[in-house]
Amino acid sequence: PTSSNKSSAGNSGPQSIHHTPTSSSSNNQSYYTRYPNTSPMFSPEHCVFGYSAASPLSEDEENEEVFSPFTFIKNIPNRSQQSRPVSAVRDIPPKTRSTPAATLVLDLDETLVFSSLNVIHDAEYTFNTRFQDHKYKVYVILRPYVKEFLQAMTKHFEMFVYTSAKKEYAEKIVDILDPNKKLFRHRLYQDDCACVLGHYIKDLTILERDLSKTVILDNAPHTFPYHLMNMIPIKSWIGNQEDSELQKLIPYMEKLVRADDIRNVLKKRTDHFHRLLSED
Ligand SMILES: [Mg+2]
Repeated sequence: PTSSNKSSAGNSGPQSIHHTPTSSSSNNQSYYTRYPNTSPMFSPEHCVFGYSAASPLSEDEENEEVFSPFTFIKNIPNRSQQSRPVSAVRDIPPKTRSTPAATLVLDLDETLVFSSLNVIHDAEYTFNTRFQDHKYKVYVILRPYVKEFLQAMTKHFEMFVYTSAKKEYAEKIVDILDPNKKLFRHRLYQDDCACVLGHYIKDLTILERDLSKTVILDNAPHTFPYHLMNMIPIKSWIGNQEDSELQKLIPYMEKLVRADDIRNVLKKRTDHFHRLLSED
């Protein structure tokens, strides 16, 4: 679909409710600059609801600090200094004999779907969500081949969805993808993220799975700064119906799952660190 709301191509989605920080300097207008009345709920990347040193509320774009995933990864503190998100650990279901040996951890926004508070005229799904006495209508479109991809992957992987978006909003989108709760073993949200340098990060270790058998698919690789070796970066998707990244990944993943150590295969990817760090 085409929509005037998707004019920010290249930016990883200021209108996305789960807003992943972007390195794009050509389009660094923050969500708040554009939509100043928006609830702070919609800035999950800032741990204290957006009121960080580089204030996203700043009117002055010139002074706005542009987020660099590369710098973020370089400056990431040692793991041992990090506390694990407490809420998640107790809820993760243990692997059983019937669960596949390999694990696939999937990001949601701009990886599997695109969502917006702006009207998407041909939106496949809409729902209302509440936050702090405000009601919001959310428009959702699905990335091409997402259903085929998930169906194919569930035969080979135990799957988790792990998003830094708020549960109140994100669970409704996961319900669209997995209405019968058959695809995803468990769903992890913002409360299951840790906060590092003012940003939510996702912590793979809380899953307690074998890291040699774990793959992450995320359009924002820096959100897993401690597990870059498990990462397949995917191009941010904001509505292009010609996109076939998920379809192309199916045969790749079916081969990857047979590797003794998935990380040894992933490190040979030519795009790996390039895309990882440019967050294209
Ligand atoms: Mg994302």
